[in-house]
Amino acid sequence: MKQTDYLVIGAGIAGLTAAYHLKDLGKVTILTKGKLKQANSYWAQGGIAAVLTKEDRFVKHIDDTLSAGAEHGDRDAIRHLVEGAPKAIRFLESIGVKFKKEPGLEGGHSEARVWRTSDFTGQDVLNHLIKAVQSPKTGTPFGGKVKNIEVLEDVDAVELITEGGRCKGAFIRVGDSHELEPFLAKHTILATGGLGQIFEKTSNPRAAGGDGLAMAANVGLELEDLEFVQFHPTALNKYDEGRYFLLSETLRGFGAKVLNSKKESFLSQFDPRGELAPRDIVTRAIFFEMMNGPAYLDMHHLFAKEVKNRFPNITKRLKHYGLDLTKDLIPITPVAHFSCGGIPVDQYGNTKLPGLLAVGEVACSGVHGANRLASNALLEGLVFGDAIAKGLERKKEEDEDEDEDIQLDEKMEIEIPKIVMEPMEQVRAYAKRISQIMWERVGIIRRPDGLEKALKEITEIPARDYRIQHRQIVCYKMIQAAIQRPSSLGCHYISSEMP
Ligand SMILES: Cc1cc2nc3c(=O)[nH]c(=O)nc-3n(C[C@H](O)[C@H](O)[C@H](O)COP(=O)(O)OP(=O)(O)OC[C@H]3O[C@@H](n4cnc5c(N)ncnc54)[C@H](O)[C@@H]3O)c2cc1C
Repeated sequence: MKQTDYLVIGAGIAGLTAAYHLKDLGKVTILTKGKLKQANSYWAQGGIAAVLTKEDRFVKHIDDTLSAGAEHGDRDAIRHLVEGAPKAIRFLESIGVKFKKEPGLEGGHSEARVWRTSDFTGQDVLNHLIKAVQSPKTGTPFGGKVKNIEVLEDVDAVELITEGGRCKGAFIRVGDSHELEPFLAKHTILATGGLGQIFEKTSNPRAAGGDGLAMAANVGLELEDLEFVQFHPTALNKYDEGRYFLLSETLRGFGAKVLNSKKESFLSQFDPRGELAPRDIVTRAIFFEMMNGPAYLDMHHLFAKEVKNRFPNITKRLKHYGLDLTKDLIPITPVAHFSCGGIPVDQYGNTKLPGLLAVGEVACSGVHGANRLASNALLEGLVFGDAIAKGLERKKEEDEDEDEDIQLDEKMEIEIPKIVMEPMEQVRAYAKRISQIMWERVGIIRRPDGLEKALKEITEIPARDYRIQHRQIVCYKMIQAAIQRPSSLGCHYISSEMP
């Protein structure tokens, strides 16, 4: 039977950071559902927030985070996040990440404190983290030096293994297999990322379907704050490989205008801050305006050379779609972007189930409250990924003192669950139906009766395939949470007036 000390499920910024810091404590195995880099982290464009300048103060970053989250966040957790940020940046520098000298200013931040490497910061960071955890034993395409870490690609974690009130690993499905096998672990760390794929329009790649949330719910854990889904106002309005390419907020910060179908600027009618209003206000304004026709992002009035210099990767990507960022009107749409809630954890990533930890977007650490402050998500993965290792190190020392190190019994009797896998066409059809219901009824603007309808429609989808059932669980929990919050807060916007 496969076994390890620390089973890290997910290879985004949160999972890789946790794995890197755990490597001196024991054997670490990282599983990822598809290939490495198929993660939200890889697509992050903006950067990482950290107080590192003379003018800035921790308390300002804490207050900005609380205020962005509609005062729903947990001040202690936020302090932990903010105070851990300088160390997180130093850690990335120590593995080779090179940040620009000047930090950027982003919406909701009272100081310039967003550190970036380029307009594709996520790719740079993830590439370095992958290198840092590379291992010669993995059989994955990279050779390397780090003992103790193995990385397994194309492994889908499906359910958690529990015994005697403790999590003892996960049932996994390898490659195209239709059967599960157990992977035992002393400690299991869920780092499966977000859930954008349950919505028809999302910036998230295919792996972000909320699997970790369903797995946690299936072993009886409560999920928290799931109603708070952040919708990003500006993605390229073109479906490609399951997602919509994001057009970062920094474009608007740089002077990009949002125009309606008549090519008129309209955001200032919704908020005096216009293009620089908070994300959720801009999202709703564009959403309403798009009921009358398409919306666009326009940068043609800016110096082309400066635009290209500042956004080389976005420029290149748009070229791939036949669009010139410096000349063309770029068609945009709001998209589901980030899950503020998830599996409740303490500052060391512990869930309520002994042996199970959670980190990153799948977790609800209390730092985002009802809406996330820009550039705090990558930071969360870094700070809490490190804290998980600290907590487990302390636990290991305590256990050794008391001679109580957790042991895995290889001969443990485990009943392996049977899974149903329906034809891919059917799975895609169900997934599409779910995402349409969620987009229409549980999206940017929610109506109480729409939520009730969505609950019924989601439940009635007769899927037998575990991949769809997992999504149904996540949607069900989210809709229930939304119904239980009858007034708007943060990015949960509820109105009876929507047509
Ligand atoms: C387009 C875009 C731009 C963004 N820009 C920024 C930004 O500038 N700054 C910022 O702070 N945040 C940004 N965010 C948010 C941020 O990127 C994410 O919140 C963060 O990267 C999440 O990291 P994670 O490690 O928790 O999850 P991910 O990076 O999504 O990693 C999840 C991992 O889990 C794996 N996985 C999922 N399910 C399973 C399973 N069942 N079995 C095995 N493996 C599984 C996936 O394959 C993946 O490897 C952006 C997000 C997007 C989508």
